[in-house]
Amino acid sequence: MLDLPPYRPPSEAKSTLIRVTKGCPWNRCAFCGMYKTEKFAVRATEDVKRDIEIASEFSNSKTVFFGDSDNLVHPDIAEITEFAVEKLNPERITSYARLKTACSMNLNDLKRVRNSGLTRLHFGLESGDNQTLEMIKKGISFEEAVEGGRKAKKAGFEVSLYILSGITERWGEHALNSAEAINEIRPDFVRLRTVTVIPNTILWHRMRKGTYSPADPISRLKEVKLLVESIECETLLFSDHVSNYLWNRYGVFYMGVSGRLPDDRDRIVSELERAIKMAEELSLKGELIDSNMLASSGKIVL
Ligand code: SF4
Repeated sequence: MLDLPPYRPPSEAKSTLIRVTKGCPWNRCAFCGMYKTEKFAVRATEDVKRDIEIASEFSNSKTVFFGDSDNLVHPDIAEITEFAVEKLNPERITSYARLKTACSMNLNDLKRVRNSGLTRLHFGLESGDNQTLEMIKKGISFEEAVEGGRKAKKAGFEVSLYILSGITERWGEHALNSAEAINEIRPDFVRLRTVTVIPNTILWHRMRKGTYSPADPISRLKEVKLLVESIECETLLFSDHVSNYLWNRYGVFYMGVSGRLPDDRDRIVSELERAIKMAEELSLKGELIDSNMLASSGKIVL
């Protein structure tokens, strides 16, 4: 039986999923509950190749995604990727990876992985603000994140960066410093995720003790607006996740913002201004609902 990765980005919904490593070698981020019950392991190369062989017999997908959270640490990642190219002949192969790992790698080694056929890396930057990175225990600084992202771009990868919206009441610094990191890295994609406090994570324990609360939804929209206004490089912005939605009592009224920057900036900012106005009106009436409220009452599971 195939050992499948438990998580993949929404953009990889149609991809053949291949598990290269299991869990996360860091596994300490304060907001993350993804691999808490999983001990990190590098899968045996022969086992991964066997899964690729099996997938090649039934999959007709044009794309491949490698799980779990940081496959750059696998010593045979280039060999595995070459095998996947040979057996599956995909248009693209993508993987989650840590910026810290990319930062610590030699550029030639990164190029070798890229040349083996791995085309895109999905990195969780979360924030470019050092104080916020420390608060969420990301285990990386702004400087290391920028170096890792730039190195990945230089090696020829498409880079997808995730930004964690609403994580802190320091939303102004979070937005400005995240935009600075994005401008330095010049990623192909920026993907927004809004923090939703997951049971048994560090943030959840802090919340129960009263030492943490996420930014309110209105501050979060203002944060996204400031971020969009401050991104100067060309990139594609996506909000492809339900955590970004806002609801009133009739249903969803805001599904996040997406578009090409800088071309679509004015349209995106106008959408955010409308959403802020609506959120303020709903908040005054006590009718503004976000993903944290729905998750805590069990109405959505993230
Ligand atoms: S967010 Fe990523 S790096 Fe952090 S613990 Fe979760 S999987 Fe690991």
